[in-house]
Amino acid sequence: MLEKSTNTSKRNCKRCGKCCYYILNGVKKKCRHLVRLPSGKHACRIYRNRLYAEIDKGIVCIPRVLDTRMMADCPYNDLLIEPYAENDTPYTDL
Ligand code: SF4
Ligand code: SF4
Repeated sequence: MLEKSTNTSKRNCKRCGKCCYYILNGVKKKCRHLVRLPSGKHACRIYRNRLYAEIDKGIVCIPRVLDTRMMADCPYNDLLIEPYAENDTPYTDL
């Protein structure tokens, strides 16, 4: 979803949208700015201004490499700053 450095820019985001879901008060929610395209891929309505925008109460959009969640088939997983342990279960149901 997001780029932080020239290193990450070489990765190809699959635009699956998985990293645009979050948990708030125990409920999984989809970012209000996320749109599903006819192709099945996803886009962000505020892409140019997305970083650190408040998308819900106390929830901000952050660069993918600062998001420590592992997402199934995400090419950014190995760049995460503090990735979960290898035996943790990646998000697969988003
Ligand atoms: S989870 Fe990964 S592949 Fe999917 S939209 Fe986010 S950055 Fe892109
Ligand atoms: S604002 Fe952030 S979390 Fe929301 S759709 Fe855009 S990139 Fe995804």
